[in-house]
Parts: sequence; C-alpha cells; structure tokens
Amino acid sequence: MQLGEGSGAVGIMGGSFDPIHMGHLVTAEQARADIGLDEVVFVPAGAQPQKAHSTPAELRYLMTVLATAANPAFSVSRLEIDREGPTYTIDTLRSMRRERPNVRLFFITGADAILDILTWKNAQECLELAEFVAATRPGYDLRRLESEGLRRHVRILDVPALAISSSDVRERFEQQQPVRYLIPLEVEQFARKYRLYRNGPGQA
Ligand code: ATP
Ligand code: MG
Repeated sequence: MQLGEGSGAVGIMGGSFDPIHMGHLVTAEQARADIGLDEVVFVPAGAQPQKAHSTPAELRYLMTVLATAANPAFSVSRLEIDREGPTYTIDTLRSMRRERPNVRLFFITGADAILDILTWKNAQECLELAEFVAATRPGYDLRRLESEGLRRHVRILDVPALAISSSDVRERFEQQQPVRYLIPLEVEQFARKYRLYRNGPGQA
C-alpha cells in the first residue's frame, strides 16, 4: 500500500557504508517507491572502533553523498558522524523524531540488521519512534523474525536480490578483482583516488 502524496513519510537508512554499494541504493529506492516515501535519509555510522576495518567517517560520508547525489529523494545526514562516541539506533531515531515531529518515520534495514536492532535494549522505544522495514537480502533468512516474535512489528520489503556486501567489495579492491557495477562509478573512483581499500603499497 502506498501512502498519499505529501503525507510526510521519511525513510531512514543507517549503515557503515564502507563503501556504499548497489544493494543499499536498490533497497532505498525500492522502499521509496513501495511505501511512497517523500525522502530517504542515509545515515552513515560514526567511528566504529570495534570494527577491525573502518574507513574514516568523513570519507564514508563523502562516498554516500557521491552515490546518492543524482536522486532528488535521497539525502545524507551527518547526525551520527558528528557525534562523539558510539551511536545507537535509538539515539538516531530520537533525534530524527525531534527534527521531524509530524512525519511517519520508516527505519529501513536489510534482513540481517533488523534482528540486531530489534533484539537489543530499547527495542520497544525504537518501535514506537519508527515503523521498521526489513529488506530481503540474499543469504539472510527473515523467518527468524517469526521465532523472535517480531514479525508483526516489521514490514517486509521485496528487493531485487543483490548478493553484494561492503566486505566483499573491500576484499575485491584488495585482491584487484572488479568492483564495477557493484558500486557506483563515482564511489569506485573516489576509493581509488584516496587508496581506501588497499592491503599495502604496490596495489592498483
Ligand atoms: P558489511 O559487509 O561491512 O557489513 P554491508 O554490505 O552489510 O557491509 P552495511 O553498511 O553494514 O553494509 O549495511 C547497511 C544496511 O543495508 C543494513 O541494514 C544492511 O542489512 C543493508 N544491506 C546491505 N547490503 C544489502 C543488500 N545487498 N540487500 C539488501 N540490504 C542490504
Ligand atoms: Mg553489514
């Protein structure tokens, strides 16, 4: 079901975006079309010291801007990257809700991330602040939503299957395998220019 025009529905798409890839973009665009969102805001995560590999937040932010610039419904938020310390979904939802008190907020995740978020503390408040959308993703089974008793809180979004992950893209850079058509050309060029995903010296 689509919402009516001008109903004020905003999608929020969080992630590391290290780097942003076609799976993220296809998911956001499908959510925009299916739900009838006016806007999708991408929210790159702040510094993640717990992740073994983490590209500086500012560079992940810039790649996200490059990848989304041509879509008039897409924008990128600095909310998490400008914040000190780790940010949780609940913090982001509270801020978004403060900034936009009257819109319907939809939090969009892939099939893997939905369970991480909704089995954490503050899950109940998260569910009150936004409607949750879980996109199908190859390799991840949404049936676990049922066993966790979460199915009725989550809208499932059928997305053309793209078995792409940022980890795989990083590995491809390191192993000099092609990344073209998996990530936007601008992102590929940016990553090469700043030598983001190279193992060491001497790689292309
Ligand atoms: P990594 O391999 O580093 O974990 P990732 O590809 O999972 O990267 P994230 O930045 O972790 O990308 O994901 C951001 C959001 O996008 C998450 O909700 C994730 O589930 C979703 N997502 C990522 N890739 C896909 C995909 N191919 N199809 C559908 N959803 C996806
Ligand atoms: Mg991930």
